[in-house]
Amino acid sequence: MNIQMVDLKGQYMRIKSSVDQAVASVIDSCAFINGPQVKTFCQNLQKYLNVKHVIPCANGTDALQISLMALGLKPGDEVIVPAFTYVATAEVIGLLGLTPVMVDVDERTFNVTIDNIRRGLTPRTKAIVPVHLFGQSCDMQQIMAFAKEHGLYVVEDNAQALGGWSTIKETDGEDGTVGEYRRMNGTIGDIGCTSFFPSKNLGCYGDGGAIMTNNDDLAEKLRMIANHGQRIKYHHSVIGCNSRLDTIQAAILDVKLQHLDEYCALRYKAAQYYTDKLKEFDPTEKYFQTPLEAGDGGHVYHQYTLIIRDNHSTGASQESKFVSVRDELKNYLSEHGIPSMVYYPLPLQEQEAFKDIAVPAEKLDVAKRLSLSVLSLPMHTELKEEVQDFIIEKIKEFFIKSQYDV
Ligand SMILES: *Cc1c(COP(=O)(O)O)cnc(C)c1O
Repeated sequence: MNIQMVDLKGQYMRIKSSVDQAVASVIDSCAFINGPQVKTFCQNLQKYLNVKHVIPCANGTDALQISLMALGLKPGDEVIVPAFTYVATAEVIGLLGLTPVMVDVDERTFNVTIDNIRRGLTPRTKAIVPVHLFGQSCDMQQIMAFAKEHGLYVVEDNAQALGGWSTIKETDGEDGTVGEYRRMNGTIGDIGCTSFFPSKNLGCYGDGGAIMTNNDDLAEKLRMIANHGQRIKYHHSVIGCNSRLDTIQAAILDVKLQHLDEYCALRYKAAQYYTDKLKEFDPTEKYFQTPLEAGDGGHVYHQYTLIIRDNHSTGASQESKFVSVRDELKNYLSEHGIPSMVYYPLPLQEQEAFKDIAVPAEKLDVAKRLSLSVLSLPMHTELKEEVQDFIIEKIKEFFIKSQYDV
């Protein structure tokens, strides 16, 4: 059995003829830069997300950077970010001379809560960058209400949750009735960012990214910044950058976008299978915690992440025990040909790059604890139940055989 964290090849084989045709047609036309497929893909993504503007760019990190540039923030302005995320979220804040204010996350959802965000608020706060980590939506209802109350921008880092959604209650018109609406992740904040890195839920065959907004003024600024700060060719009104989505990538993405709902459903089904079987084995969460689905937001399981417990402690320090049980399980799985990954082994507050610029708003204990106890299992659209059975069997075996068993 050849088990992979992500099976890009298997996924490609199912859509090979459409993808090959799409790529060949771009090469045939030689419209490599800003070819018609870029526009078509963006229009189709706009429709899919029900958002007014999709601005293509080179990758997810650029999407975040361009978004923050468009907000016109000044050095010293503070931006609230979760301490438990991929580095890009906070890196662009530092790069622009802004101050990342790191807040803790919720132990079960891996996401920032409104209480965490509140602890990061100061008179200098200008924006919040919530991250829909591992495919789970943050509580956008509360975050948007908080942002409105305090006059803050919200830039969603939706690199891991494209295709997911949040249910938002909104008051309609004059009669004040409250309706519930499904809003796609990335379209709820002032701006949303995503990445088409190959392993993301909608991945291309190289680098790619996009920015979403319903705000016409911001859309114009974002487009301009992504294109050397020009609206008219060779007339540059602001300092921008050169960040484009390749035509070949756009053509591939346009094929794959038609499968995104199916991909999300396959991930969801695989996640349910893991959770059902793992809970059957460990109903009291003695050994590990399976992912919690918070609220009614659509979880799209970019990652399937367990928290490995330290109930087997025999007197060694909590911290080293966390490391050893999680890491021993990881090694055990690896010995049986099962890959697993630690997303993320270092919380942001411990990254050297941020030591002089970031402000930790609170103790960040949860982010720290998670970095020592999380383990992500293989998760992709091609995962077969017999492969999952094997993975689950080996996890059980590890805990049953484990010398730490109580
Ligand atoms: C992947 C990712 C990014 C960056 O995307 P790139 O396309 O690799 O630049 C940003 N934030 C999060 C949370 C991500 O997972």
